[in-house]
Amino acid sequence: RLRDWLLRPLVDGKKIGARLDAVEELLGSGMNRSQIREMLRQTGDLERFLARASLGTASVRDVVSIRETLRRLPDLRDLTEKFLSARLQECRDLLDPLEDLHELLERAVHDDPSSGIGEGNVIRPGYSRELDELRETRTSGKDYLARLEARERQRTGIHSLKIRHNKVFGYFLEVTKANLSRVPDDYTRKQTLANAERFILPELKDYETKVLSAEEGIADLETEIFRELQQAICERSARIRATASGLADLDTLCCLAEVASLHRYCRPVIRADRRARIREGRHPVLEVVTGEMDFIPNDTDLDPDQSQILILTGPNMGGKSTYLRQVALLQLLAQIGSYVPATSAEVGLVDRIFSRIGASDNLLLGQSTFLREMIEVANILNNATDRSLILLDEVGRGTSTYDGLSLAWAVVEQLHETPRIAAKTLFATHYHELTELAETLPRVRNYTLAVRETADQILFLHKVIPGTSDRSYGIHVAKLAGVPQEVIGRAGELLRSLEGKAPEKDRGRLGNRLRLGADPRPRQLRLGLEPPEPDRLRAALAKIQPERVTPLEALKILADLKERAGE
Ligand code: ATP
Repeated sequence: RLRDWLLRPLVDGKKIGARLDAVEELLGSGMNRSQIREMLRQTGDLERFLARASLGTASVRDVVSIRETLRRLPDLRDLTEKFLSARLQECRDLLDPLEDLHELLERAVHDDPSSGIGEGNVIRPGYSRELDELRETRTSGKDYLARLEARERQRTGIHSLKIRHNKVFGYFLEVTKANLSRVPDDYTRKQTLANAERFILPELKDYETKVLSAEEGIADLETEIFRELQQAICERSARIRATASGLADLDTLCCLAEVASLHRYCRPVIRADRRARIREGRHPVLEVVTGEMDFIPNDTDLDPDQSQILILTGPNMGGKSTYLRQVALLQLLAQIGSYVPATSAEVGLVDRIFSRIGASDNLLLGQSTFLREMIEVANILNNATDRSLILLDEVGRGTSTYDGLSLAWAVVEQLHETPRIAAKTLFATHYHELTELAETLPRVRNYTLAVRETADQILFLHKVIPGTSDRSYGIHVAKLAGVPQEVIGRAGELLRSLEGKAPEKDRGRLGNRLRLGADPRPRQLRLGLEPPEPDRLRAALAKIQPERVTPLEALKILADLKERAGE
């Protein structure tokens, strides 16, 4: 049921409120909750047993589990008697103790039955007279064998004579070689062994037929009765399903209350508008892994009218992906009616949560990693609405820097400028250029992950703060990961060169294509993302920093601008 709720979050504030009321009530009644949970622990998955019974494939254990579950129901109902919230009362009303079925299963099934049907130990003595008689025949047969053995020993004077049984010959009398002379005429030889011979007697064969038919009868009858029990279960399927549903709901609500109590969750306030305001939000899974004391909580403010798109830059390992997921998980938890890991949370309902996270390919479908990334981006842009929540984690990194950056840039513009898809968006990226969008697009905000840099180390503070970061500390992370020192050293040199801090000789060697940091044109022009309007061109020209442009480069830029103006 929990999985079901997570996969089908609610979009109706009233229904969410009803679940939250239930969680709140259970949270406030710790004693009752632990008793209910203890009892639920002893119940089985009625729905699954029912499904098997309707296919006629229920095992003895399934039927016993149904009985055990039904045994607990009256007590469970008593515990739920005082529920106040409507949702919990609804659960309670679904719990049908199914007395008739319970009574039948108690009467029909052994307390401790054998696991296989047909061995005669599943159906309780007293339930079927016919079955009891067959069992009687089988047991009395065993006494009969002992009597027959004693009689034959006496008649023949062979004290070592034994009645035995195997699958090939059935029952037989075994006489050792030394006693063969005493074997009477009415014995028929069946088999000769090294030290003994085996015989049969007509009387023994009669007995065998009787026992075998009793055993067959037991197996058939028990199977038949068991089939009838499954039938009886199926006939009550609607009631069982309702009870199962009540149990599942109750179980899930109790678990939500338990987690809320264990990890200090708060009740989210469901807003009528589209804003999200979370204080000291935490990642519900990671905080358990790292330990609550070590997890750094973070605030979130998303407002489609003011701060619709958050661009999150910051170092590798800073916590960008964690933060993205955390915001989405809080939203999802709120919309299944759960408390959330935060000190306070107000969230507007979203109609869908879209995410473009992680790199994976699907070679069998002929999809490369980047193609998949773009398929997901296309899905988002084609299907998001202004009520959605979108997570974009490093979109564009699967292709060349310029292609990726251009795509990422255009995606943000589209989400910002198209009212139909103006969804709340969190965009984590290493393209620091994207932070410039906040200058031109009013609802874009820049956030970054705080880092403390000391002389010899970098400390990731995992705190989301307003602002931008133009360093990724990727080389630092590579070092932590164990990339060989020569590679780290060389990468450091190259980085300095790309950032324009290296001696001229090194800069030249890197070639123009790599010289992102050394390209003197304003970034937007470099990317060709601006429409060529004359005043924008003028503004762009004004931004050119003369000290970074050689005369030849300046001429090239002017030629380029002229061409664009012409277009
Ligand atoms: P990259 O840019 O390399 O993908 P990232 O910025 O997305 O990195 P995450 O993957 O989110 O970083 O986080 C890296 C690790 O930092 C996590 O596995 C977790 O251990 C730790 N971490 C992230 N956020 C927090 C937090 N708020 N509190 C404590 N630890 C955190």
